[in-house]
Amino acid sequence: MVNPEDYELLAAELDRYANVPDDVLMEIVTRDCTCMWLWAGEDGPEWQDEEITDRQLAARLCESCPVRKLCLEWELRLAGEHQFGVCCGLTGDDRRALYPVWRARRDQMNEDQGGGQQP
Ligand code: SF4
Repeated sequence: MVNPEDYELLAAELDRYANVPDDVLMEIVTRDCTCMWLWAGEDGPEWQDEEITDRQLAARLCESCPVRKLCLEWELRLAGEHQFGVCCGLTGDDRRALYPVWRARRDQMNEDQGGGQQP
């Protein structure tokens, strides 16, 4: 992810999850995520000892995850601007750049709805 427009598009894709409660997000992500099961066996993924960048790790770890967008929504809510490490197919740098865009959309959404609900 490089272009500011990409962050805007991604944040807009997450709008649909704005009213999903935290506990529902958590339940779905922990139940259906790919990462939790990759290391559930004894061996782990075959690429785990390779020297790869965070961006490559994000791509490999999350590319086939069925709950990638829900995971991102949850991560942005939980960690806010303090985004570190690989998660949701994005690096910490990517998510730190995404966060203010996502936050601004949510603030606007809340304002449009009468200022009630967070996030
Ligand atoms: S998107 Fe990546 S970090 Fe998030 S649950 Fe899926 S595999 Fe795990």
